Amino acid sequence: MPQPSNLSAHTPLMQQYLRMKADHPGSLLLCRMGDFYELFYDDAEKAARLLDITLTRRGQSAGEPVIMAGVPAQALDGYLAKLVRLGESAAICEQIGDPSQAKGLVERRVVRVVTPGTLTEQALLDDKRDAILLAIAPAKSARGVWGLAWMALTGGSVTLAQCDPTALPDWLARIGPAEILWPQSHVVPQELTLPFTTERPDWHFDSALGLRKLCAQLQVAHLDGFGAQGLGSAHAAAAALLTYAEQTQGGALPLLADLRVERAEQSLRLDAVARRNLEILQPLRGDDSPTLFSHLDSCQTAAGSRLLRDWLQAPPRDADIARTRHAALQSLMDGGLAALCGSLRGMADLERIAARIALRQAKPRELSGLRDGLLLLPALRRQAAAFERCDLLQTVDAQLDLPPEPAALLLRAIAAEPALNLRDGGVIAAGFDAELDELRAIDTDCGSFLMELEQRERARTGIANLRVQYNKVHGFFIEVTHGQTDKVPDDYRRRQTLKGAERYITPELKAFEDKALSAQDRALSREKVLFDGVIDVLQASLAAIRRAAQAIALLDVLAALAERASTFGWVCPEFTQTPGLEIVGGRHPVIESRVDRFIPNDCQLDEQRRLLILTGPNMGGKSTYMRQTALIALLAYLGSYVPARSARIGPLDAIFTRIGASDDLAGGQSTFMVEMAETAAILRQATPQSLVLMDEVGRGTSTFDGLALAAAIAAQLHDRNRSLTLFATHYFELTELPLRHPHAANVHVGATETPQGIVFLHEVREGPANRSYGVQVAQLAGVPSAVIRDARRRLDALERRQQAQDAQLDLFAAPVEAQRQATEAAPQTDALRDALETLDPDALTPRQALEALYRLKDLQSSD
Ligand code: ADP
Repeated sequence: MPQPSNLSAHTPLMQQYLRMKADHPGSLLLCRMGDFYELFYDDAEKAARLLDITLTRRGQSAGEPVIMAGVPAQALDGYLAKLVRLGESAAICEQIGDPSQAKGLVERRVVRVVTPGTLTEQALLDDKRDAILLAIAPAKSARGVWGLAWMALTGGSVTLAQCDPTALPDWLARIGPAEILWPQSHVVPQELTLPFTTERPDWHFDSALGLRKLCAQLQVAHLDGFGAQGLGSAHAAAAALLTYAEQTQGGALPLLADLRVERAEQSLRLDAVARRNLEILQPLRGDDSPTLFSHLDSCQTAAGSRLLRDWLQAPPRDADIARTRHAALQSLMDGGLAALCGSLRGMADLERIAARIALRQAKPRELSGLRDGLLLLPALRRQAAAFERCDLLQTVDAQLDLPPEPAALLLRAIAAEPALNLRDGGVIAAGFDAELDELRAIDTDCGSFLMELEQRERARTGIANLRVQYNKVHGFFIEVTHGQTDKVPDDYRRRQTLKGAERYITPELKAFEDKALSAQDRALSREKVLFDGVIDVLQASLAAIRRAAQAIALLDVLAALAERASTFGWVCPEFTQTPGLEIVGGRHPVIESRVDRFIPNDCQLDEQRRLLILTGPNMGGKSTYMRQTALIALLAYLGSYVPARSARIGPLDAIFTRIGASDDLAGGQSTFMVEMAETAAILRQATPQSLVLMDEVGRGTSTFDGLALAAAIAAQLHDRNRSLTLFATHYFELTELPLRHPHAANVHVGATETPQGIVFLHEVREGPANRSYGVQVAQLAGVPSAVIRDARRRLDALERRQQAQDAQLDLFAAPVEAQRQATEAAPQTDALRDALETLDPDALTPRQALEALYRLKDLQSSD
């Protein structure tokens, strides 16, 4: 890329380009030149590679050929979409003013920078998902809090949060940003995996600036009304967020409609691992596999789908919120649901249209969509009003009450089916503006004038096949075939010679052409003025349109949840004050609709029965059972009905999962390391109100290691965390745990052997499984029969040897530390003596010796 220092050697155009490029070093600069957007030099080479477009060399600037690549203007959105998907940003430079009027070089300016987190273009956005821009402001001191501020530019509101650094991964998983703004000089902590990150100058993260900007955007003197005062770190993040958003939009942002504050304790905690394992928004395997979201999403509108996604991202911990939603579902199911879904179907995306009107990016079809949507509102309102006993649906009714002016204006101003683009004309309705109607009349009269002229000229010249015609390049002309040209009168001026004919123009036709063409141009510019005028007037109604859009999205989500509940026969869950879950006949919401016959299962967890050791064969249904329990709890707090015969759910602060073994090879961690890291996080954070799912912990290492770890982890969850835990394991030894841990119990998934092989019953029963059926499952999976026979022989031998050993491994008595925790009544002095006896100083490294010393001290102090 040529350096700006030797600018003067370049052509004026390249000087103009290089100056703009210097302002946008991190983005690909696409420069409008006629019908193309061109990229130059390094950008051209990169774009050619990424977009598979042709690289060319043209002319010279500063003594070197200019390397360039271009994309057609009308195909820009498609190329931008591809660049953004690849994590690139693009600066769009437009010609300012009318190029045909410009003297010398046309003025050009970067009007917009397109980045993954600042998308507003309809064609680039996913209908069902917001592109979220998140700014993260690090804490000012080691013990301070970090600030977060995020928004979807098409949403019109900013959300703030503060957290300590350890909670950052959870927040990232909850927010799901498309782009993160990060202060330039701050090192990203190793444990954070950030998606598309844009570094911004440190001084952009300034809390006083953030407060000022937020107040200005909301047109308020302080943020008390939003509960957002005193959040210095979050204000600092907001400063960077709003500054960047402004810059990418090429100037001022439209005013914000709302400011929200989120606090961690308001929502059910779901860390990234739990979100992944429960397949809430993303399937674990295969992009098209169903997720909880895809299963619930029978929304009729894209805005409804987006709101549902948001609910799933942060289910409220407050059971009262869920109760009001349940009441609304009940009202909807009592009658009126189908009619409501019918009214919502085909409703335009008012939220995004409002955002694009605010950004002055709305296209003609969006205004006609808004018009049609607004016209549907009264009917929708009548339907919502009919649910008079439901508070939530009544608030919706009030929000749908919109003044009639915007709909009336759009009805008068916008054609029934406007053209796709304003530049094509035919957007403003006939009768809206007298001047436009007049200009259009000239255009319409054109056809009859030309026919009449043709007749007249044929009569005057005696040329029977004379034709009056029009084309885009040459305008109007009279065409005469070569054999007849001697009959052409004097006032005919030759315009063009073709192979078989001559084309002429006459003073009369020229005068008409000027009038007609200028009428067309003038009509188009008049339409633009009128369209901009409509956009101006609509600005005043945006707040009301946004409120209505939110109400529609809410109605849509409630209707979808009600529809799901009645389609699948789900029930209203009940909330209790005492911690625990009492699920009768629970099913997995997604799997139940994918298998012929789903076997419902109960689940009882409470303070007296807080750890269930779940055993049984592989494929027996253990993971399904654990996941369905978590999903039922999640759905209940979300405000949905649940797939069960009945469900009573106590207070819940978090769902933790450790399910399945997946290597994080990209992150450089082995399966076992990932497993232990996830387990460590759970042991550190789970509380008595947390639901913990542990599947096959310890599988990633040798048998004894794994067994010992699994036992210690289960004991810790039971004794210390006291969480509501489902612990699936293939270690039979763990079924002894309830003997020494009074609040643990054994359950197992049933299976039976038939002459044809093993049959999974998918039934969860009390008590431990009596065998693991590993060989039978292997047989079912198609392992060759010779291997199966050999395995059976070896298994028999192993089982015989095991029985012969008198001294069985007493897992829960052996380690002194485990014993101390498990049997609190045992005399500590014995434990201390035991520990001393087992200590072999010669076998210890200095570090182990020090650790042993601490352990002994611990034992002594707890005496
Ligand atoms: P495990 O974790 O014990 O290996 P899974 O929970 O993965 O077993 O279940 C294996 C398969 O069995 C599931 O994919 C599902 O098709 C089926 N399954 C599980 N639970 C049930 C059930 N309750 N009713 C019917 N089919 C089930």
